[in-house]
Amino acid sequence: MTGPAVQLHDVTIAYDGHPAVHHVSGTFLAGAQTAILGPNGAGKSTLLQAIAGLRPPDEGRIDLGVERRRVAYLPQNATIDRTFPITVLDVVLMGHWARRGGFLGLGRAERAQAEAALAAVSLEGFAGRQIGTLSVGQFQRMLFARLLVQNCPLILLDEPFNGVDDATIGDLLRLIAGWRTEGRTVIAVLHDLAQVRAGFDQMLLLARRCVAWGPTVATLAENGVATGHLAEAWRDDASWCAA
Ligand code: ADP
Ligand code: MG
Repeated sequence: MTGPAVQLHDVTIAYDGHPAVHHVSGTFLAGAQTAILGPNGAGKSTLLQAIAGLRPPDEGRIDLGVERRRVAYLPQNATIDRTFPITVLDVVLMGHWARRGGFLGLGRAERAQAEAALAAVSLEGFAGRQIGTLSVGQFQRMLFARLLVQNCPLILLDEPFNGVDDATIGDLLRLIAGWRTEGRTVIAVLHDLAQVRAGFDQMLLLARRCVAWGPTVATLAENGVATGHLAEAWRDDASWCAA
């Protein structure tokens, strides 16, 4: 099975006339796991929002090899209001919305899928818990359970591991590896090079413009980014962010 590709054709996205993403062209390969890396303010979230269809490009075009409603998007610091009185199961059931248009008509099968997804992220027994009682890691596991229920061929993740404990990161990286086996296309904004190397075969270095885009190992080597945290490697290189 091959997943969809996403093609960027000379994409520029601006806020008040200031480009956050500047003339970026390239292809997110079908069925590949691509990491987007770059300094703060590089336009990573903006680009992901555009691929998700939430922010139309000001110039250029984005072609999706999949229907828009089959794109799953996990925003940065996914801010469901944690004080909102809603259970873990309700949040995971939201994953059915794109197909079903709401909670109406959700039956036993959908509920069983949600419970299976909770088991897949090691949150058995959490279905009835209020989301406000979850740890950061448990909260992120819950959001990944919702992604499982969404069952989309294209999955966009914006810094999914920020503030998350190592055990959870390991488990979620294994889920992402499983998506690769299933032929899903994953595009994830990440900072940690070890995570990128472990689970992402392609990478895009973004600094408003495209700095480099290709297979992870070769791209890291060619750009002299060998170890550590990319933000540190780029700290003294503001020119990479010049528009
Ligand atoms: P990254 O995710 O790489 O940190 P962003 O895409 O969030 O970068 O932001 C890119 C640039 O666009 C930054 O300079 C940021 O300040 C600006 N920006 C982001 N969102 C908005 C917004 N809603 N309004 C105005 N400027 C924004
Ligand atoms: Mg961001």
